[in-house]
Amino acid sequence: MAPAPEQRAVTPRGWCPSLFEPMRAEDGWLTRIKPPRGQITALQARAIAAAAPAGIELTQRGNLQLRGFAEAGLAPFALAMQAAGLASGEAGIERRRNIIAPPLLGHDLGIAPNAAAWLEALEAVLADDALAALPGKFGLALDAGGALPLHGVAADITLRLDAGGAASLHIPGAMARGAAPGHVATLIRAFLAVPGARRMRDATAALGAAALIRAAGLRPEPPMPEPPAPRAIGLLPGATGFGLPFGQMGGDELRHLASLAERAGPGALCITPWRAILLPGPSDPGLLSAEAGRFITDPGDPRMLIRACPGSAGCASGGADTRAAAAILARHPRPPGLLHLSGCAKGCAHPGPAALVLVAQPDGRYALVRDGRAGDAPARRNLSLAEAAAELER
Ligand code: SF4
Repeated sequence: MAPAPEQRAVTPRGWCPSLFEPMRAEDGWLTRIKPPRGQITALQARAIAAAAPAGIELTQRGNLQLRGFAEAGLAPFALAMQAAGLASGEAGIERRRNIIAPPLLGHDLGIAPNAAAWLEALEAVLADDALAALPGKFGLALDAGGALPLHGVAADITLRLDAGGAASLHIPGAMARGAAPGHVATLIRAFLAVPGARRMRDATAALGAAALIRAAGLRPEPPMPEPPAPRAIGLLPGATGFGLPFGQMGGDELRHLASLAERAGPGALCITPWRAILLPGPSDPGLLSAEAGRFITDPGDPRMLIRACPGSAGCASGGADTRAAAAILARHPRPPGLLHLSGCAKGCAHPGPAALVLVAQPDGRYALVRDGRAGDAPARRNLSLAEAAAELER
């Protein structure tokens, strides 16, 4: 029997919703599904679509975030998802079960042969009750190479497997070779011993990255430069990738993707951290071109370089409907680089820096930050959307 959802009336800073610990937003309760192995079947996709009361969002961790639940609908939904094999039965484990898996695990022969075993081992590490204090935002990534290595994906701890299966461990500011799952467990315990640390970067700031790597029993080395993120949209080796405008879709789109997945191959939907869903199977240009009006099929589509939170349409803190604004700004010329539209200075849609950030003010106008985060000091304030569009062209 699954636990009743622990419902939150307010959103504490740093809170990260999960299936059994949903969060209240302006448009109702929101909850998250963390697809095991980063994938769902067509059957599971239809079950999610049938239960989704409103929009479905892809998160930066490759999770599915569902909005608009009535309070009474949360517990039945959680039970249904658990029955569908999409969640563990224990709220604490589900909160900690944050692992970004290789996006085409099981479908890409280029992925390291021991990737599935590593994923299982990492899940076992996080399931340990000794790590109960781990914050819900803390997450791991397992990069096993192949056609879509997890370059450019932020995580507190990243494990990289080379083609032969040898593992290196990466944290902000340092890396180490020769990692085993036991080193990850020891490193997380060292992190938990740092007072007040919520993310790994807090611990590295307090102790130093090299000291933490040594605490895990490994020899620290300087971090390696990371190549750019791979292209996850269009015809890929062994899959077809569809982007979602601003990471959003409705139940109808998810149902449609389920049908496409069955047409494309084994009926799997691989949820990536790049706001794209991959359908494994042989390349099919016809499949791609037929869907160009519904999904993003061109990796150069300007919407893929825009991040936007729900803003006032879904969050009490939002000063403006940022996704509606993003749809308008996507049609305006702007210099290359990421554009982040944030409903307030919290910057939920993209915690990292972006080339251009428009932050909605409480009065509905916008502040502009260049090369920074939503919470940074703006270069301009009090811009209308038209003025902001003109600023972006400069
Ligand atoms: S950034 Fe967006 S989603 Fe986050 S609190 Fe502000 S308005 Fe809400």
